[in-house]
Amino acid sequence: MTEPSAPGDELAGATTSERAPSVTLRAQRHAKDPRPGLSGLPDGALEAWLAAEGQPAYRAKQIRDGVWRQNAAAVEELLTLPAALRSRLDAAFRADTIAADEVTVSDKGLTEKTLHLLSDGALIESVLMHYPARGRDDAGRPVHRERHTLCISSQAGCAVGCPFCATGELGFGRDLDTAEILDQVRHAARRMTARGGHLTNVVFMGMGEPLLNLDRVLEAVEALSDPERFGLGARHVVISTSGVVPGIRRLTQLNPQFTLAISLHAARDPLRDVLVPLNRRWPVSEVVAAARDHARKTGRRISYEYVMISGVNDTDVDADALAALLRGDLAHVNLIPMNPVAHTPWQASSSERVTHFAARLHDGGVGATVRRNRGQDAGAACGQLAADRAGEPPAPAVAHRRDLIVRQSEAALRGDRNVERLPVDLEAAVSPRTAAR
Ligand code: SF4
Repeated sequence: MTEPSAPGDELAGATTSERAPSVTLRAQRHAKDPRPGLSGLPDGALEAWLAAEGQPAYRAKQIRDGVWRQNAAAVEELLTLPAALRSRLDAAFRADTIAADEVTVSDKGLTEKTLHLLSDGALIESVLMHYPARGRDDAGRPVHRERHTLCISSQAGCAVGCPFCATGELGFGRDLDTAEILDQVRHAARRMTARGGHLTNVVFMGMGEPLLNLDRVLEAVEALSDPERFGLGARHVVISTSGVVPGIRRLTQLNPQFTLAISLHAARDPLRDVLVPLNRRWPVSEVVAAARDHARKTGRRISYEYVMISGVNDTDVDADALAALLRGDLAHVNLIPMNPVAHTPWQASSSERVTHFAARLHDGGVGATVRRNRGQDAGAACGQLAADRAGEPPAPAVAHRRDLIVRQSEAALRGDRNVERLPVDLEAAVSPRTAAR
């Protein structure tokens, strides 16, 4: 996914960088640490390990409390355990799967973008967004309560290859394991706790396509919503997808309480083929039909994310097509001006154009909110920081990509689906384990 947005994230304010990164991370690939992360262990795993070690079962709760209540960064912080057990535990597991963080603060402190270094050298990103309380009712209570929303990654890189997204340009690295997903949350929670606050929302809209790593994502959501672990209500979690229809259908069967967001970005297939290459596998009609069934079964409104790209998907024709597609559905559209991304020829739509597009959707019977982008000066585009550290691709490749994007979008605007495509590894994106479900 690419554009962190959340309810209340309306267009407002300027961005300024206010703090230098604490460290400078660079991607250097090597073997992954084979020890599983404690936060991602499945039910019973800790108990089984403790039994094999000849330890009493109550140690499992002490360890879990150390991970989730104390939010320990190292096994040596688990002082309720005897030293010998800490040493054995440290040899078998990791208290933290993230090796280092680089935090960049912008938007006058309202946005904190973190580049996380994993044990194999992979770089992933999370973004912590703070929303102060807004409005007062007659009794002086805030109408919109203060929120602290964390946008997290589910994969290192992404195979879907959306051309407006820096992660898409990076290509697919690997799936994150459950602990690597959860430890992004634990890192942000640690920073919040140090300030006397707590996270209120988690959204899977960072690097990667969550429904192509669905088992790990579901395990992470279970841990986040478990009162014995992170204890965040499922209604405070959003899972976003670029349109993996079998994954949406699997989520629907679970009848979840979290919100499903669809990264739509275009209502017409020729254009969406370009903007979200997975559309060639699951076209707009199939994605929206699956989302509609999901809303019907769960009673939960679907969020449709729509990145606004000047002259590409922000025309009146696009607004009318989107309104016709979603009219009458339990749906809401979030309009997000595109973040600047290296190596694309595209720019964000103007604020006038975005406002006009929103009004046209309203007139067409579809609710829409204009969201603002956070941390633009801090490499806010999803994957931009990681892409910067991965090094500059060769100039001919950049020129070819730009040329291809221009030709594709021109063809798409004519309604032509038969143009040369960006090289996307759809086989990797649509793995048999996902497609079969
Ligand atoms: S390339 Fe992947 S991470 Fe980027 S917007 Fe598309 S699906 Fe999301």
